[in-house]
Amino acid sequence: MWRGGMSEEVGKALCAVLDRVQQAAARRPQSLPNLHPRLVAVSKTKPPEMVIEAYRYGQRNFGENYVQELLEKASNPQVLSSCPEIKWHFIGHLQKKNVNKLMAVPNLFMVETVDSVNLADKVNAAWQKVRPTSTSGQKLKVMVQINTSGEDSKHGLPPGDTVTTVQHIMASCPALEFMGLMTIGRYGYDLSQGPNPDFQMLLSQRREVCTSLQVGPETVELSMGMSNDFEHAIEVGSTNVRVGSTIFGDRGYPNTPSPERKTKVVTEEAVGKLERLTVKEQ
Ligand SMILES: *Cc1c(COP(=O)(O)O)cnc(C)c1O
Repeated sequence: MWRGGMSEEVGKALCAVLDRVQQAAARRPQSLPNLHPRLVAVSKTKPPEMVIEAYRYGQRNFGENYVQELLEKASNPQVLSSCPEIKWHFIGHLQKKNVNKLMAVPNLFMVETVDSVNLADKVNAAWQKVRPTSTSGQKLKVMVQINTSGEDSKHGLPPGDTVTTVQHIMASCPALEFMGLMTIGRYGYDLSQGPNPDFQMLLSQRREVCTSLQVGPETVELSMGMSNDFEHAIEVGSTNVRVGSTIFGDRGYPNTPSPERKTKVVTEEAVGKLERLTVKEQ
């Protein structure tokens, strides 16, 4: 089920995004850790063929926000055989009842959305059961998700709980490797108003973590920035950007000739609302 032209489009879009990532990284002030930002290609709602195509162009990190969809895509026989070095990131809300299912995902690389001590414990125990550290030696990389915008519709820890949660993971979750902090932030922030306050909040959370754990900022990654703001996110210090629609195309509308501009805007708005809802419900 290859769609005409898909292959070239994904490759071109991916290269263009990688280029923009590079240029944004070059604009960062020297005071920020000089880490090469990781591009996570968010393939949600897109078919495995697109994942394979992006992989062929060199992409290795991919993100999904539903456990079931991730499990299916990562277990797809073609993905398994064509993408041996793929690294899957889980970036959606994780419910405790889905933890075991998530642990079964082949090539699971990082869970970016640990948002409570309880969930950390659950993931730690589940990972120990599936891949005992003694045999594989592999810890599961995790990030702690912070609700920087304080919106009810967003998941994540209240900022005041960041340090204790990170401390808990480091002290009491031997199967987990703490990698950094993640936020989604408010949608549609107008950058002409100045730096995105959600990203600034995540930066200040990192400062707190670094001070209290006595570690350098280069040891705590920041996952922030999506299609519409990943360059800004990198300029202010993101080390992990999650980009979907700019690589794979818009989500959620029928594969028919371009709708009228007006319809398209309305559809995008509707899809945005739907995503905001599903982000919360999922
Ligand atoms: C969908 C999604 C993205 C990517 O969004 P785009 O705007 O398509 O780049 C990034 N992060 C999370 C958590 C998502 O759910």
